[in-house]
Amino acid sequence: MSTNLAEVETGTERRVVAVIRGVPTSDGAGVKLTRVIGQRALPDLDPFLMLDEFGSEKGADYIGGFPDHPHRGFETVTYMLDGRMRHWDNKGNSGLLVPGSVQWMTAGSGLVHSEMPEQEDGLMRGFQLWINLPAKDKMCAPRYQEYAPDKIPVAKPAPGVSVKVIAGEVAGTKGPIGGVATDPTYLDISLEKGAGFSHRLPKEHNAFAYMFEGAGMIGVKEVEKQQLAVLSQGEVFSVTAEAAPARLILVAGRPLREPVTKYGPFVMNTPEEIHQAIADYQAGRL
Ligand code: FE
Repeated sequence: MSTNLAEVETGTERRVVAVIRGVPTSDGAGVKLTRVIGQRALPDLDPFLMLDEFGSEKGADYIGGFPDHPHRGFETVTYMLDGRMRHWDNKGNSGLLVPGSVQWMTAGSGLVHSEMPEQEDGLMRGFQLWINLPAKDKMCAPRYQEYAPDKIPVAKPAPGVSVKVIAGEVAGTKGPIGGVATDPTYLDISLEKGAGFSHRLPKEHNAFAYMFEGAGMIGVKEVEKQQLAVLSQGEVFSVTAEAAPARLILVAGRPLREPVTKYGPFVMNTPEEIHQAIADYQAGRL
């Protein structure tokens, strides 16, 4: 199959500089998940602090959900692939995430929320990504950008290629997420067997691709299911599905290059700010 690799993209290639496999862990009230960013092999990838993949057909693996917990100083992005999850926060916001929904929550100065499954069994699958905020925005007012599946546009940039554009732009199709400090790209890319896709990313952004179905070649490197490819600096990302269909997310953002002090659900610049966050939470000020 012909691809658009040669004709569209001529800039510096983004190579795979490391391939990371996630580690099984649990969070919330016993929800089983795979932590891909935010573990020893990949503690962070500025501005990305954490990437969790969750996926199970067994209610016992997720039924506990994520009861009330705080956040301050960063953004959480939940992308549901399968299953239903309801969220609620102490500012009066709530919503139901269904298969294909995106919730981009800018926690800013803070909130307390819960994220609970709205099903007792059956497939629950998706991602949660944590993205840091610049120091100047860490205490901004909380903000939600939440989109139902039909509000996420699909680009068809090449034969056999379908891209759900959550953030960024592909072949003139713009994702709905806007006004985010790190100017992110977040694409869900599906490739039929034999198809190829290339995409130009801002040169200075850090970027990764996570293969969650099938396998593909990213540049000259084969990346398998449940592997994250850390990409080099450069401009052009390219992937081909040679042996089987593939599905992956491609995520990029502007690195902040600021000090990071993390304590659970608080991510600030200094230990003093963490102490303040804990004090504010304990005093009910979040
Ligand atoms: Fe949360």
